Amino acid sequence: MSTFRFQTLKETANRKPVSVENLDKKSVIFGSNVFNDKAMRQYLTPEAYKAVKSAIVNGTKIDRNTAEHVAMGMKEWALSKGVTHYTHWFQPLTGATAEKHDAFFETSFDGSDPVEKFGGGQLVQQEPDASSFPNGGIRNTFEARGYTAWDPTSPAFIFGTTLCIPTIFVSYTGEALDYKTPLLRALNAVDNAATAVAKYFDKNVKKVTPTLGWEQEYFLVDRALAAARPDLTLTGRTLLGHTSAKGQQLEDHYFGSIPTRVLNYMRDLENECMLLGIPVKTRHNEVAPNQFELAPIFEETNLAVDHNSLLMDVMQKVGERHDFKVLLHEKPFKGVNGSGKHNNWSMATDTGINLLSPGKTPMSNLQFLTFFINTIKAVNEYEELLRASIASASNDHRLGANEAPPAIISVFIGQQLTAVLEELEGVSNGKLSPKEKTDLKLNVVGKIPDVLLDNTDRNRTSPFAFTGNKFELRAVGSLANCANPMTTLNSIVAKQLTDFKKEVDALIDKKGLKKDEAIFNVLREYIKQSRNILFEGDGYSEAWEKEAAKRGLSNHKTTPEALKAKVSKKAITLFEELSIMNHVEVEARYEIELEEYIKKIQIESRVLGDIARNHVIPTAIRYQNTLIENVKGLKEIFGKDFEQYAKEQVALVKEISEHIEAINSKVDQMTEERKKANNLSSTEEMASAYCFLVKPYFELIRYHADKLELLVDDEMWTLVKYRELLFIR
Ligand code: ADP
Ligand code: MG
Repeated sequence: MSTFRFQTLKETANRKPVSVENLDKKSVIFGSNVFNDKAMRQYLTPEAYKAVKSAIVNGTKIDRNTAEHVAMGMKEWALSKGVTHYTHWFQPLTGATAEKHDAFFETSFDGSDPVEKFGGGQLVQQEPDASSFPNGGIRNTFEARGYTAWDPTSPAFIFGTTLCIPTIFVSYTGEALDYKTPLLRALNAVDNAATAVAKYFDKNVKKVTPTLGWEQEYFLVDRALAAARPDLTLTGRTLLGHTSAKGQQLEDHYFGSIPTRVLNYMRDLENECMLLGIPVKTRHNEVAPNQFELAPIFEETNLAVDHNSLLMDVMQKVGERHDFKVLLHEKPFKGVNGSGKHNNWSMATDTGINLLSPGKTPMSNLQFLTFFINTIKAVNEYEELLRASIASASNDHRLGANEAPPAIISVFIGQQLTAVLEELEGVSNGKLSPKEKTDLKLNVVGKIPDVLLDNTDRNRTSPFAFTGNKFELRAVGSLANCANPMTTLNSIVAKQLTDFKKEVDALIDKKGLKKDEAIFNVLREYIKQSRNILFEGDGYSEAWEKEAAKRGLSNHKTTPEALKAKVSKKAITLFEELSIMNHVEVEARYEIELEEYIKKIQIESRVLGDIARNHVIPTAIRYQNTLIENVKGLKEIFGKDFEQYAKEQVALVKEISEHIEAINSKVDQMTEERKKANNLSSTEEMASAYCFLVKPYFELIRYHADKLELLVDDEMWTLVKYRELLFIR
């Protein structure tokens, strides 16, 4: 008997739900581990408080002296909560978060004067030994060191007994080495561009804040079972495993009642989120068995991105307490749905207006249409770049797999708004007659209902859908750092709004048009130019692939192909023009993402070779031997008549041998391809070789291994099976 697998199964059979402490009401505990407004008022001098607030709202700098005061207050607050260490908390390009803890504790070398210390210097800047973070060559060509610098716009928080200070991570020559730096620059760019446009409608607008509400999908698997699968442990997904007889076909999991063990995990996780100021709101079962979702109330984008990164970390930690391994991979299991992370995005003014929400008056609706149409135009211009921003080895499995949007980017806006855009396309050139103006105001712009929210048909197959008062980018992977797509989306919208402002102003200044006439004129042209990106039909269908190709939309199914758009002249110009990234930073990121892709596929390929040879083949041989013993025994009893009784067994022996042979030879061929790929000199060629020459072996090997799983005695099979991974909880 395969003792390890059955031991783990026994272990899981005895699991009891772990009880969870009932904390105070959410509204009471919310943010109590965050150095938020309330804590700052209590622990900072009025001057220091004002300086931090101004840094948050206006982006002003905090001088050294003030930083000293802030550090003092922060330390006092943290010590009052039993904190012993502090760390700069940042998001290097590995996709994970990074931290290095230092104790507050200090003493002189002879042990006298022990004291808890934390000064402005430690708050503002640190120098992590950065040489082992991915840098895409930046730090080799320029300067060997990088440093982290405090981001006052995202509040410090306490996790466990550590004070975590959100920071950016840059090289000494100023190049961004993290996700946050370009994101902050993109958010700033969109603020500038959108504020200028919003002033057409309301002079009082001083700031526009992009908002983000992500929805995190994940799988839970019992920790013991996951540990018994080398592929899950090392790659986050199953590389082998026959589908379970029951999967998601009964559609009985989605929104079903949440199992107690899981519910307790969720409650525990939500408690942690509340303390950390992550405003989680919804939880439910997802489509696949053991798949779940969690979503917060939307926030300012930088904070929302930090919160999602933090959440992914906290999810694992809380999982340990409940004997769960959390799978954030986009496609941990073949045959059931994968996981995504919808990014709901909009822009809000400091006057309290959601710029993507239809208003009550014709003028506020014209404002809505302006931002709505500009966003569509931006996506139309840069669809390839947006696709590149969500590319990863793991997301390749999900996009286009009939459970997630295809690799083609398109925009869904619903029937009503489609009709509105059609009307606007008919607006006259140049000056509008008084009748046309009135007509537009009354019958087109004035008639956009404010109940779109409920009327918008939610086309789940669209990668970028308008859902009433926001756009929802649905193609983001569950494992992704939202900063990557959010940097891109905000950059392209910033660029678009800047161009829009120029065009409108030119019509006003040179052609003498009134403001609203100029806006109508420019929007009309934008609608005409953006027709190709609008699609209301079934994004999963083959017909759409054909249609999209005719329209000239990109359809990059793999990461190496998709990523190329990141270093196109158009993309580099965009990022440089808006001062979001220079070409060195863009090229470095491209290099890093290709490298990451290569490494991921390389690891998967090695693990697959390993388990195919060390688990599957030996198990198959063991079972084959029992068959052979059986055939020998039959021969002993029946003599030359044995064949009629041993027919099936002999056939099985042969079949097993064929599968073994196929696996063995394919593992050899795959290893050869890997060797060849490793010898290629350019990262681009290597990524392409891993994608098109190594990866195709995965399915071929899997096919035979999964067939063997069906043939071999269940008691002998060493790898935990799909039905166990997906249904034990
Ligand atoms: P669903 O799309 O799941 O039906 P909702 O429309 O209620 O649900 O919202 C989904 C997500 O969209 C939530 O995380 C919510 O916080 C976010 N969201 C709502 N309004 C905005 C907005 N103006 N900007 C960004 N995100 C938003
Ligand atoms: Mg959604």
